[in-house]
Amino acid sequence: MFSRILIANRGEIALRIIRAARELGVETVCVYSEADRDGPWLEQADRKVCIGPGPSPESYLRIDRIIAAAETTQADAIHPGYGFLAENAHFAEVCLDCQIAFIGPSPEAMSLLGDKVSCRAMAKKSGTPIFPGSPGEIEEEDEAISVAETIGYPVIVKAAAGGGGRGMRIVRDESELIAALESARQEAQAAFGNGAVYIEKFLEHARHVEVQCLGDQHGNAIHLYNRDCTSQRRHQKLIEEGPAPHIDPALRDEVCESAARLIQAAKYCGAATCEFLMDRDHNFYMLEVNTRIQVEHPVTEMITGVDLVKEMIRCAAGEKLSYKQSDVKLSGHSIECRVNAEDPDRGFMPQPGNVETFNAPGGLGVRVDSHVRSGYRVPPNYDSMIAKLIVHGRDRTEAIARMKSAIDEFKIGPIKTTLPLHRRLLECEQFVNADFDIHYVERLLEREEQVTS
Ligand code: ADP
Repeated sequence: MFSRILIANRGEIALRIIRAARELGVETVCVYSEADRDGPWLEQADRKVCIGPGPSPESYLRIDRIIAAAETTQADAIHPGYGFLAENAHFAEVCLDCQIAFIGPSPEAMSLLGDKVSCRAMAKKSGTPIFPGSPGEIEEEDEAISVAETIGYPVIVKAAAGGGGRGMRIVRDESELIAALESARQEAQAAFGNGAVYIEKFLEHARHVEVQCLGDQHGNAIHLYNRDCTSQRRHQKLIEEGPAPHIDPALRDEVCESAARLIQAAKYCGAATCEFLMDRDHNFYMLEVNTRIQVEHPVTEMITGVDLVKEMIRCAAGEKLSYKQSDVKLSGHSIECRVNAEDPDRGFMPQPGNVETFNAPGGLGVRVDSHVRSGYRVPPNYDSMIAKLIVHGRDRTEAIARMKSAIDEFKIGPIKTTLPLHRRLLECEQFVNADFDIHYVERLLEREEQVTS
């Protein structure tokens, strides 16, 4: 096992990693920016190192400074958390070159699964369901036209290196195809330095269902069932839950097992998530693989009892997974609400500033993962998420009731948060019946706006 881990991240995920490391008897070093000088999570780390000014390109994205901090504090591993450098294969490679373990996959596995074209090809071989589409990168216009005709419109042009929704174009008929191909290529080239694009079928009404997986360096890979993240606004997840509701257990297991096979084929070490869209007839199509720990990982921890971050650390240290597939048992239902410092009544405007009141809820089956406490100042530089409220209940009905009660107990002020929106979503018919698609939140917000204006 490692003796000291450097955490190349901030906020709640830094705290989450500190907790896991402590349980394993491993010391922690937190790097931080000048804007995070008073970050409450830093008090929990064994050591802290300032790596630069508030803007992340000058601190949390500075590979040279992070490596220097790891070397001076003699950290033998780096956990990247999520966001920042978590899915940067070059960073993973630099860590290894400097003989510091990267707590995540090898750079090769990260690149293989991170590129959507190679990932699709590998998924196909592993029997993981993918969208009908081009077998590889689209190079010729003729090929684009014939692929789109074969799979049928609407189609979507996507960047192989895609992320954050960039380099994507929905195409509804042939007249739009060539222009879309060209503009997607240009956007991808500018954003990722890689203009490769491919085409797949576009699904109008879909639920987002994803499978949590874990792999070790000994060729073992397991899945930890699925989560539903259909409640999104502008592709940003708001509510996640697990297991994904109303999916036949046999189908669920089949898709989850196919995801684990993909992870195994990629010789993957650590936590990975295979994201799928599911249509109304419950057909699954893989979107992408996220090669990091995800924000919504606590949902899986609550329904399986597996500490995902500890498993990641163990596996990076060369240990075998502590669980075989048959050891992973589902229990009850879990829901997570992302509490963002944003004003949902004013176009989700970010709400940096002082948090005078932060009274978190508690009780049976209630978990709050947050770095915030009363008196904390939310800096303007980073993601607006200030807490994750997670509940566990014996079934979905109990989990929803528990979440509503926990939200009512949660007092944060004077800054505005997304809690009131969560409360409304938990009561809306589509959520209650899990009869929804990835655009239902946006439609609901539009309706609300029409009523108030
Ligand atoms: P990125 O890595 O840029 O986030 P994804 O492949 O995860 O790209 O897609 C982002 C979002 O775009 C998805 O969550 C979904 O809402 C939409 N999307 C992507 N591909 C499709 C598709 N084939 N059909 C319908 N929606 C899609």
